[in-house]
Amino acid sequence: MKTVLIVGGGAAGMAAAITAAGQTPDIRVILLERLDRVGKKLLATGNGRCNLTNLNAGTAHYHSAVPGEAEAILRGMEPAEALRFFEELGLRWTREDEGRIYPYCMQASMVLDVLLAALEERGIEVVCAAPVNSIRREGEKFIVEAGRRFAADAVILCAGGRAAPKLGSDGSGYGLAKALGHTCTPLYPALTALCCDMRASGGLKGIRAPAEVSLFAGETCLGARRGEVQFTEYGLSGIAVMDLSLLMPQGKNRPCFAELDLFPAEEEASLLRELRARRGRFAAQPLERFLLGTVQKRLGFALMKQAGFGALSRRCGTLTDRELSALARLFKHWRFSVSGVQGYEQAQVAAGGVPLSEIDEKTMESKLCKGLYLAGEILDMTGDCGGYNLHWAWCSGIRAGRAAGKARKA
Ligand SMILES: Cc1cc2nc3c(=O)[nH]c(=O)nc-3n(C[C@H](O)[C@H](O)[C@H](O)COP(=O)(O)OP(=O)(O)OC[C@H]3O[C@@H](n4cnc5c(N)ncnc54)[C@H](O)[C@@H]3O)c2cc1C
Repeated sequence: MKTVLIVGGGAAGMAAAITAAGQTPDIRVILLERLDRVGKKLLATGNGRCNLTNLNAGTAHYHSAVPGEAEAILRGMEPAEALRFFEELGLRWTREDEGRIYPYCMQASMVLDVLLAALEERGIEVVCAAPVNSIRREGEKFIVEAGRRFAADAVILCAGGRAAPKLGSDGSGYGLAKALGHTCTPLYPALTALCCDMRASGGLKGIRAPAEVSLFAGETCLGARRGEVQFTEYGLSGIAVMDLSLLMPQGKNRPCFAELDLFPAEEEASLLRELRARRGRFAAQPLERFLLGTVQKRLGFALMKQAGFGALSRRCGTLTDRELSALARLFKHWRFSVSGVQGYEQAQVAAGGVPLSEIDEKTMESKLCKGLYLAGEILDMTGDCGGYNLHWAWCSGIRAGRAAGKARKA
């Protein structure tokens, strides 16, 4: 009988185990997890609802050191692949905005329950509180130390990255991969908030506003996203901002800033016309009235302060053309200097990892160590917010499980 051992009971590890077990009856599948339960991170995904894949999954939503390699490996990992996997396990799903897929009952715990049932039904040996601290080759076998010693014909390394370490992925997987000959591209926390200088716009904590956000390094625009921006005491957050965190330059660079366009569908000139009309309409009213009905009250006050309008008791009719131009400009180009991104504790993923060039794109088998397979976040593949990271975890796990389960015993 052949033994396939999986390191890490996260999304990729569970998908790999379930798939490997179905490849041949003559197989023993063991899943080792360092925490006292599998799938802990899964419960926290999508704010407890688990955005499990996205109908738009494709190369445009993924980032890795060498884009061409990402394209090759993503071929065949269409959304249908992940959906078929879950449909076979009996999970109903539903589609939300922008192609996001959730379980029909909107509970991440249901996704985990379905996976747990599938692990049990297939007789997979799940061993928790088993942190793997070494994997080595001994002849044709792998010897895996995790408090206890295990011998296996194939190992699938799905230990995740180092984001949200309290939920399991503490970065130990990179060391295990390196000990077997792999390298690792530079790692950094991603899908996290931007740390900005909020001094000039204090008092905005908790405000959410629709906007287009652009990230700049010097005067070079690195990318732009539309969505709801959240103002926090340390900076800017929200899905659009978190996606941009992936593009933050690493190391010493030109100063970075985030620019908000609060009215992306409108031209600055038409906003200015509207401001002039408001000045006339509310001429006798105090500035408190000026933006009432446009943006949130506190946001409006902060914008007027930033545009240099002075005391709120001032009459709207006293605003000069120059002041109105400054405000219209701010509506479209509100800049925040960015000092960095929030750390691994708050990040949803660790960007970087084992290079895709070290993996066979069709099987996920290591090119450097036969019988070793890698899947999920441990690899240098990072998706945008929106279900893309779990999609990668399921699909790469399924591919590795299929290949490791099928491969002839050495
Ligand atoms: C708060 C939060 C919300 C998120 N929401 C979404 C979302 O809605 N949609 C989406 O697509 N993505 C989301 N993500 C990202 C997504 O969860 C991850 O990209 C995905 O879980 C990675 O899967 P993985 O199996 O590769 O790694 P993980 O899920 O991190 O699993 C790795 C597992 O390996 C175990 N492990 C690590 N080292 C060892 C070792 N040495 N020995 C034994 N076991 C080990 C860990 O304990 C862990 O259980 C979210 C992430 C966070 C933190």
